[in-house]
Amino acid sequence: MACKTNYELMRSALERHEAVPAFNIDNLESALAVAEVLRETGSPVIVQTIPRTLNYGGISTYPALMRELTADCETDWAMHLDHGSSLELAAKCVKAGFTSVMYDGSLLPFADNIRMTAQVTSMALPLGVSVEGELGTIGGKEEGDTDLEASYTKVDEAVEFVDKTHVTSLAIGVGTAHGVYKGTPHIHVQRIREIHAATDVQLVLHGASGLSDEVLRACIEAGICKINFATELRQAYTSGIRKALAADPDVFDPKLYMRTAIDEIKAVLRQKIAVCRGITL
Ligand SMILES: [Zn+2]
Repeated sequence: MACKTNYELMRSALERHEAVPAFNIDNLESALAVAEVLRETGSPVIVQTIPRTLNYGGISTYPALMRELTADCETDWAMHLDHGSSLELAAKCVKAGFTSVMYDGSLLPFADNIRMTAQVTSMALPLGVSVEGELGTIGGKEEGDTDLEASYTKVDEAVEFVDKTHVTSLAIGVGTAHGVYKGTPHIHVQRIREIHAATDVQLVLHGASGLSDEVLRACIEAGICKINFATELRQAYTSGIRKALAADPDVFDPKLYMRTAIDEIKAVLRQKIAVCRGITL
């Protein structure tokens, strides 16, 4: 087991002009898929859960699962709270063994986002836990259709936000959306480059499911060093179960049909690791 912080994994990725893929897990099967791919590829990844997942499975369940499943694995990984909604939840996650927490105050007025995020960094950074903030609008669950320019993170606001909150990483709005894209998204790669040049904070891309490999590579070249993947993993998992049940309607042992789901997730994980690292797996 080699559980590191997001900051450490992202710092070495940035030095190599790569990004660390961050994979949202839901249950034992998605945790198994990540652990097997860690062992098989030797590529560090960030494992993350959203608050709804923690409500579903329990806060300490996920770091405990990952520690157990990677006990004999040398490859680095980090345990991150994705879209944390309160200081209280962030503190509970730190206590449960998360090495990184996000506080998402992007829907708050700018000054409130700074104030709330700074409370999380004051709690977490002294304990050696990384903190991700969010500024700007990432579409999908967070927001309806908005006018594009207004949704992009502004460079001067990013500078002020990082300066006042001391976040180690920052999720920025550059035209991505959570969930499934309806049209072709327009990603403002130049804005990534501008924020990367103006700050020394590690930059995070949310809403990457459905973006082409070319767009993802352009974002990494512009300075993104963590990319979140959730929707495509859930789609792979569910399609794996459907396939296995259709292929054998009499199967009843979950350990048998879940294997197909795990393998479907693993195929997506390997592909995303390859894109984030600019390698072939
Ligand atoms: Zn997100």
